[in-house]
Amino acid sequence: MTSSPVTRVAVLGAAGRMGRTVCAAVEEAEALRLVARLDVGDDVASLAGVADVAVDFTVPSATEANVHALLDAGVHAVVGTTGWDEGSLGRVREHAAAYPGLGVLVAPNFAIGAVLAMAFAAKAAPWFESAEVVELHHPDKVDAPSGTARHTAAGIAAARAAAGMPGMPDATAAALDGARGADVDGVRVHAVRLRGLVAHEEILFGNAGELFTIRHDSLDRVSFMPGVVHAVRTVASRPGLTVGLESYLDL
Ligand code: NAP
Repeated sequence: MTSSPVTRVAVLGAAGRMGRTVCAAVEEAEALRLVARLDVGDDVASLAGVADVAVDFTVPSATEANVHALLDAGVHAVVGTTGWDEGSLGRVREHAAAYPGLGVLVAPNFAIGAVLAMAFAAKAAPWFESAEVVELHHPDKVDAPSGTARHTAAGIAAARAAAGMPGMPDATAAALDGARGADVDGVRVHAVRLRGLVAHEEILFGNAGELFTIRHDSLDRVSFMPGVVHAVRTVASRPGLTVGLESYLDL
């Protein structure tokens, strides 16, 4: 691919809520040029030689095929669409190996604050006897707990295990179903659904006589745009498949 001072960007799912926000962010960003808005029925192969990077915010049923088509078209991919699993990631990793100059980022959360909260939580985890995660969302969300909360809890659990910490203190002997939240690798995760909320997370740590709380609030789709723009600027320098924006933040 020819390198140019301006990065040519295509948006897949450009008519969607996230896609429209990404188009506006790309148009405003220095040294990025929006060259294509694709939606249902548009041919990804048409991006060959036209776009350097494509951003995919489509639907879980389309996103993997889009990424394969982007690789074949010689276009780096930045993907925010949810629904990826080990199988789909493995197929993309294998396909990307055939194009050593191309990068693919699949990031379940582009909010830099949410990614930092997860990283800081893993750092804090070995230093506190107790840790619990509370995620709070609007009532139209269909899954609980959120993927971000599950990842946060898994990161805390892994850090505690690596530090050889024992289980957390909890004398609960009788409880109503769900009262202690979901158990993610031994870390309790609580999901609140409340009209008026958007997407929020609190990570609670406790020692005797000391509490430490990390909180992140996403108040609008624009909160994802600094992460998306950073990824668009970085993806060409990270060949192969990368999962998670944290790998692009040099934490
Ligand atoms: P949305 O408003 O439904 O937008 C999706 C768009 O993609 C729609 O315009 C849809 O068209 C279009 N589309 C469907 N199939 C396509 C295909 N094969 N090629 C191109 N476009 C296609 O959804 P959204 O709220 O923008 O969310 C999009 C995805 O991003 C979801 O998976 C969501 O969970 C995820 N998301 C991720 C993050 C993150 O930080 N990673 C943040 C927010 C959302 P039709 O409406 O005609 O089907």
